[in-house]
Amino acid sequence: MRWSQMHIPTLRDDPAEAEFPSHRLLLRAGYVRQLTAGHYSLLPLAVRVRTKVIEIIRQELTRIGAQEMLLPAIHPAEVWRRSGRWELMGQEMFRLTDRRGAELALGMTHEEIFATLAQELNSYRQLPQQWYQFQTKFRDEPRAKGGLMRTREFTMKDAYSFDLDQAGLDVSFEGYHGAYTRIFERLGLPAIPVEASSGTMGGSGSTEFMCPAEVGEDLIVHSPGCGYAANIEKATSRLAEIDDEPGADAPVRFATPGTRTIDDLARDHGAPADRQIKTLVYVLDGALTLVLLRGDHPLNEQKLADATAAAEVRAAGAEEIRDALGALPGSLGAVGVTDLPVIADEALRGRRAMFTGANDDDVHLRGVDVERDIEVGTWADLREVRAGEPCARCGEPLLVERAIEVGHIFKLGDRYARALGAEVLDPDGRRVPLTMGSYGIGVERAMAALVEVHHDERGIVWPVAVAPFQVAVVAAQSDDAETAEVAGRIYRELGEAGVEVILDDRDERAGVKFRDVELTGIPFRITVGRRGLAEGTVEVTRRASGETEKVPVAEAVAHTRGVLG
Ligand code: ATP
Ligand code: MG
Repeated sequence: MRWSQMHIPTLRDDPAEAEFPSHRLLLRAGYVRQLTAGHYSLLPLAVRVRTKVIEIIRQELTRIGAQEMLLPAIHPAEVWRRSGRWELMGQEMFRLTDRRGAELALGMTHEEIFATLAQELNSYRQLPQQWYQFQTKFRDEPRAKGGLMRTREFTMKDAYSFDLDQAGLDVSFEGYHGAYTRIFERLGLPAIPVEASSGTMGGSGSTEFMCPAEVGEDLIVHSPGCGYAANIEKATSRLAEIDDEPGADAPVRFATPGTRTIDDLARDHGAPADRQIKTLVYVLDGALTLVLLRGDHPLNEQKLADATAAAEVRAAGAEEIRDALGALPGSLGAVGVTDLPVIADEALRGRRAMFTGANDDDVHLRGVDVERDIEVGTWADLREVRAGEPCARCGEPLLVERAIEVGHIFKLGDRYARALGAEVLDPDGRRVPLTMGSYGIGVERAMAALVEVHHDERGIVWPVAVAPFQVAVVAAQSDDAETAEVAGRIYRELGEAGVEVILDDRDERAGVKFRDVELTGIPFRITVGRRGLAEGTVEVTRRASGETEKVPVAEAVAHTRGVLG
């Protein structure tokens, strides 16, 4: 391709609206343009990268025997109703009505639709089946981010496995785990597999592939000691044993005027935070619920959602709290509460001689025995792990790091197969629902993550495997006949040798061309200039290191093929 004929609208300056490196660089280097918030056009360079990402994913999925399909993006509501997710998906699902009044959804994922196809499987002999597609997903994201990281329409590679039983699923899941490891390695993304919450997907377990990056929206917890790694929505840590004194026979009220916070109570009333019960009030799918944690432990809301299977989780407002408990936050407690559900964090189990609010403004209780005095309906792991806490496995201090989720694989079990009636005959001739897994990679998010990981102050630094072009040939003086001729020849010969090459033949100063080649992140630049030609050489520059070698003109093509490997 010739630069002069391609649409590569690079910008001289950083776009003002860009929030973080991948957003800024993809705009500035002429890869994407925003149509409206969360919807981006991919320009020619971006499409070339996207095609490479897709091809690497496709090759690795083919290796594990997966078959590519392409399913509709518009789904009848009925199919989603059968799994219960028409309601569960809430506002994140784009919905529409056709001219006949039929309700439709824009597909945000395809478990239901693939399970519908799987109704045609009828014997265990046909299993396992691995099906996948590259398809546009639509999600009305509450916080669409700038750039390709979080958009409202994006390409997902979504794959689905169908097995006879859990043991089969375990094998399929391992297959994808391996394929994902190879995919991210080939893409040049340092993705770490971490234990994850399954969210609204359900099922028995899931693993996210997380790419550490400052702009990541997720937090991952990991132990350099033993390799333990989990999303903070799932992570646990080891707690120091606490030996409580026996405490009173019953809770004792005491006045705490002006005491509002855990710290106030600790400072003014000798109640260390780890001996306090923190009472939070949440609305879970419309139902007011008391959530109890140790005073010094933060809540992780996703853990609360997972423990209660609630689709909608929000903190209650002060009014709602006062109406239900008769007190304001600061003096809340669960002792004697029988008309609201109470869910307590595991760290409170067995604790005695604790402090908590009395549901009376400016009054607290001491001597609370959690299991004796509080009607806990559900015990669950709710607390958010903090950096430095000991790893539950090896005891080493845990690290907490920001990361971008680039892939997520789920063991779904038979939930969708049951709902959609996808059953087969097992070896004993019984009809059993299929056991499913589902496996996603966000293609454009992977591109954004690549830019986050691979850039410098001059622009993007694509790994060769995903670069839009491997080599840019730059004619330093395009108005000089010999320079243009040699550059054109090297360009042609590289192309004939199968190298993906672009010729920067624009009528621009050399500095502008160099800047654009760096900005767009093309891994190798061959510079043909008058000065070099006078001594019979061209320059080969590596984008990543900035290293330049002089190479005799006649060897330029062979040399470049050599360094490309
Ligand atoms: P997130 O927690 O970031 O919203 P998710 O859990 O909703 O992600 P999945 O439903 O597991 O994501 O989708 C599979 C993959 O699709 C994700 O790992 C991610 O790479 C990609 N993805 C999800 N949502 C978006 C989005 N809004 N824009 C771009 N890619 C996305
Ligand atoms: Mg999401």
